[in-house]
Amino acid sequence: MAMPALRPGCVLLKVRACGVCRTDLHILAGELPSLRSPLIPGHQIVGDVCDGATPVLPLGSRVGVSWIGGVDGSCVYCKRGMENLCDHPTFTGYSVDGGYAEYALARRDFVFPLPDALSDLDAAPLLCAGIIGFRALRVAGVEPGERVGLYGFGSSASLAIKVLQAWNCEVYVSSRGESHRELARTLGAVWVGDEHDRPPVQLDRAVTFAPSGDVVVAALSSLRKGGVVAINAIHLDRMPQFDYDSLLWGERQIRSVANMTRADARDFLALAAKIGLKPKVTVFPLDQVNEALAAVKADKIDGGAVVAL
Ligand SMILES: [Zn+2]
Ligand SMILES: [Zn+2]
Repeated sequence: MAMPALRPGCVLLKVRACGVCRTDLHILAGELPSLRSPLIPGHQIVGDVCDGATPVLPLGSRVGVSWIGGVDGSCVYCKRGMENLCDHPTFTGYSVDGGYAEYALARRDFVFPLPDALSDLDAAPLLCAGIIGFRALRVAGVEPGERVGLYGFGSSASLAIKVLQAWNCEVYVSSRGESHRELARTLGAVWVGDEHDRPPVQLDRAVTFAPSGDVVVAALSSLRKGGVVAINAIHLDRMPQFDYDSLLWGERQIRSVANMTRADARDFLALAAKIGLKPKVTVFPLDQVNEALAAVKADKIDGGAVVAL
């Protein structure tokens, strides 16, 4: 495979591992508009700096790259500190080539040096699933000790539960797959049900991970007054009609979670290292990346899938 040419402001990375994300499936299925072709997807990259080194990022430094590969720094959102909403973002593995390759280019100011406490396989699923799950908890406004519902229990939720436990929250999990429910029990959820069950208590916050509007309404129907549902999905099948008077009135809120900021990434990676977050991963070699994507699509993976080189 051709090595990408170094560009100003970038580092060239020798890829060590790249996590598989559901967004890759949306890109490949054309549910997100095609931005370049051919495209190398993959946006949870762990790699070593092999060219373009600086004093801050010396040769051989091990860094992570996430979904946000760059922002313009000049739009109204960037100027207000909301770079996750930038009008001209760069998306790793979508608007530029990503990490299912031996080498990847990344903007120097959008790579994150990785703490030694996180191995390559630990770090890869944290870089999108982990950071965005963490951002979803922030968007939902989770306070320590609250009751939080997680709807869907894939890679992102199985990391978010560990953060919530570190904050002494009670976690209620609703998921349609039995193996996902079993994983939630193993990870210490106080209640686990299937998609049609309702948690036995009213929730302060909920985060939905499934690309399903019905799941959003289910989460909404379990909230206390003033509670928040954060939708951690880049694409929903549809948003069904629901009853305003009983479900949204009372200052309940529905919010979407869009992308992430560099601060989210740094804060989350530091917390992950501190609490010893070790994701459950299934490893695939680079030449089986299509099998890895198919397994994620079929919900056959508990935790995260990682392509390791
Ligand atoms: Zn992702
Ligand atoms: Zn911007």
